[in-house]
Amino acid sequence: MADKSFLDWPFFEERHRALAEEAEAWASEHVARLVDHHDVDGSCQRLVAAMGAAGFLAHAAPEDGRFDVRSLCILRETFARHDGLADFAFAMQGLGTGALTLAGSEALKERVLPGVRGGTTIAAFALTEPEAGSDVAEIALTATPIGNDMVRLDGEKTWISNGGIAGHYIVFARTGEAPGARGISAFSVPADTPGLAIAERLQTIAPHPLARLRFEDCRIPSANRIGEAGAGFKIAMATLDVFRSTVGAAALGFARRALDVTLDRARNRKLFGAPLSGMQLTQTALAEMATAIDTSALLVYRAAWVRDAGAPRITREAAMAKMVATESAQEVIDRAVQLHGGEGVRSGSVPETLYREIRALRIYEGATEVQKLIIARQLLSQTG
Ligand SMILES: Cc1cc2nc3c(=O)[nH]c(=O)nc-3n(C[C@H](O)[C@H](O)[C@H](O)COP(=O)(O)OP(=O)(O)OC[C@H]3O[C@@H](n4cnc5c(N)ncnc54)[C@H](O)[C@@H]3O)c2cc1C
Repeated sequence: MADKSFLDWPFFEERHRALAEEAEAWASEHVARLVDHHDVDGSCQRLVAAMGAAGFLAHAAPEDGRFDVRSLCILRETFARHDGLADFAFAMQGLGTGALTLAGSEALKERVLPGVRGGTTIAAFALTEPEAGSDVAEIALTATPIGNDMVRLDGEKTWISNGGIAGHYIVFARTGEAPGARGISAFSVPADTPGLAIAERLQTIAPHPLARLRFEDCRIPSANRIGEAGAGFKIAMATLDVFRSTVGAAALGFARRALDVTLDRARNRKLFGAPLSGMQLTQTALAEMATAIDTSALLVYRAAWVRDAGAPRITREAAMAKMVATESAQEVIDRAVQLHGGEGVRSGSVPETLYREIRALRIYEGATEVQKLIIARQLLSQTG
């Protein structure tokens, strides 16, 4: 049974505790039934439809345009504790439309968000390119005006989660108002737009729908631009500002599951005539795992609370939360593998699955090194 005592921390209101309970009950009843890791596309389609019907996706694409980051974190943490794909399916509906929620025109929001909220449209966020990952200001996919009303997109995006099953993509493209970060705009692109193709499906150590996309003379109305021309980089960063702490929350869910199964294992596994849990080296490991989890939870929910309390940006807090929670979850899970012995590396065991699931979180939405740079830049610019 996962430790839920953190819900009594002053970061939360009664509605958060109720949401945690509702999500836990729903996930216990539905997630295992909906997920088949040999069919990640079908699993994500089923999960999104079911989460939409259950009302959870209203948190990922809020009707009033105001994210409640604590709710997003509670849902990601809960779903991640049950299954990485459940967390993924939920999170992408938010990340995949965050730019629209934050900066889209009413007409665009009305066209796209109800389907995303209801679980009938799967969403994707297309920023990364083969030659521009951490250095996103260098993206090269172009958006060229054709007359006043249309824009054509040409180029590639890669590592796009939900690529292949998404019904809608938010695509960041170079519009050239200024060099680098100030010459990028965001666009709403329906998946069936001619000229948009899935160039390659990508497989990873913890598979989920993922693809490289090709845009060739892909024409969309100019009115599909999200926000001002040249504001795309800012919009992408504002979106990541909201969702980075939620990546930390997903890591927290994985780490809590690792600790839970390790506590069970330590109590029940006998060696040298005693339970594993009776050994002081085991107790040290358990104590350090639990402390790492609480440290991460404090940072994740601090970031979420600061945003919900009205801070327009939480760049430093979100970077710290993502960095610490993902890095320490990897360590917690590695200890879970070790304490499980051979069972820890058996394909399909919980520790082995978590060991694969956690790895990409230290890379996407800004690798740990990038988070360190963000934190240091903020420190240097705001002090002295
Ligand atoms: C599973 C998965 C899902 C993803 N989903 C999406 C998605 O939905 N949409 C999307 O747009 N992108 C997505 N990405 C892309 C992801 O955001 C990028 O992989 C990430 O930003 C890193 O870019 P890169 O892979 O090009 O690595 P690179 O930019 O080549 O960086 C390689 C490594 O260099 C190190 N590094 C980076 N910067 C510095 C620095 N300044 N100093 C020192 N070291 C540094 C880091 O360790 C980094 O991992 C996804 C990636 C993965 C793995």
